[in-house]
Amino acid sequence: SARRRKIVAGNWKMNKTVPEALALVRELRGPLSSVGDVVEVVLAPPFVALQPLHVALEGAPFQLAGQNCHWEASGAFTGEVSAPMLAELGCAYVIVGHSERRQLFGETDETVNKKARAVRDAKMTPIICVGETLVERESDRTLEVVERQVRGALAGFEAKEVAGFVLAYEPVWAIGTGRNASSAQAQEVHAAIRGLVGRLYDGETAGRVRIQYGGSVKPDNAAELLGQPDVDGALVGGASLKAGDFAAIVKAAT
Ligand code: PEP
Repeated sequence: SARRRKIVAGNWKMNKTVPEALALVRELRGPLSSVGDVVEVVLAPPFVALQPLHVALEGAPFQLAGQNCHWEASGAFTGEVSAPMLAELGCAYVIVGHSERRQLFGETDETVNKKARAVRDAKMTPIICVGETLVERESDRTLEVVERQVRGALAGFEAKEVAGFVLAYEPVWAIGTGRNASSAQAQEVHAAIRGLVGRLYDGETAGRVRIQYGGSVKPDNAAELLGQPDVDGALVGGASLKAGDFAAIVKAAT
């Protein structure tokens, strides 16, 4: 795991107006000015804040991410935003397949795969989210569900592409609930995902792909989760909206 640089991303979801977004990055800059080389810090604000943050973050050690995109580059898709548009605003990453997108907006393994392809074609990196529901975990289907989601998302990609990807294991029952997966639960699934990537591709690819944990990551549980051998970072929702909490989580990754 020493070969993999940790990556902590803040998913702001549908929160923060542009002035609020600018205020939050102003607050993050000081505390996070020195961690840039050790851990990669990614911010995923709402689309409308991307351009102002791109300007404001000039020289700051933060990368920008879209929270979603369409799989076509342009066209008659009212209300959608394409991957090339996000790339042009300075995004290095796009989150695809977040459980809220899957549950509330009908995303499937197939659309997640098409979006990941679009992100890659636009020379960005997808952060591909997978994770089981509570019912699935309680019926012992966690690994089966996560495996199906990973296989679906990665369909058609080559090893050299996947090696640079970020996967995010986000158990649905842990998102926004205050109930995080235990470090042992997270490690078990992360190891299974890495093993699957090894079977689908090769050991080199499995060793390079980064796997974030997401689901109620907070300053007080981050160090233990991030200390697991196959946990390469965190995807943080609620706690990424508060500068002090997010900075503490990033520092727990160092
Ligand atoms: C998320 O939305 O990706 C997430 C992990 O949310 P939270 O940290 O609030 O559980």
